Amino acid sequence: MAIVITNGEYYIQNTKTGKVKKTKDINEATQFYHVNKAMRKILSKPAQCKGYYLFDTEDTYSRRKQNRKHYSQDVRKILYDKANGKCAICGKSLLFSDITLDHIIPLIQNGKDEVENLQVCCYECNQMKGSILPIDLYQKVTEIFMYQTEKNTKCKLKWKIAHRLLLSCIK
Ligand SMILES: [Zn+2]
Repeated sequence: MAIVITNGEYYIQNTKTGKVKKTKDINEATQFYHVNKAMRKILSKPAQCKGYYLFDTEDTYSRRKQNRKHYSQDVRKILYDKANGKCAICGKSLLFSDITLDHIIPLIQNGKDEVENLQVCCYECNQMKGSILPIDLYQKVTEIFMYQTEKNTKCKLKWKIAHRLLLSCIK
């Protein structure tokens, strides 16, 4: 098992001086043999490792990730402009440097690794969506919102009315 730290485009490479370098060549990436050690690396350099995740180079699922296409800055810019600079899931305005690309239909669910299947997302939404379909995510978020609001609301009657209103909007 060998774990590397990547954002899907660059890999983290340790230098002798302990500084973090980024490389596009997986062969130059620093390999970790324990998840804990790789995690410690990410946690010790939060700014440089923002948007990076671990992947096991010997895992089949990871191998699929490794084979993902790398989209150029031009493609990213087109998608960014198309999205008016906003996250497709939560609507947050994003700096171009902060965007992540999300596969609308996840690759693990046989979504295509093509531009048509990509959307611009913030890092948090991308992490949360993971490998589920957007519709399932929205369903889940709605359930969480409804449940948490009901749990935390003090005025039960107000919530009952709001709940009915919300349901009529969603359905
Ligand atoms: Zn978002």
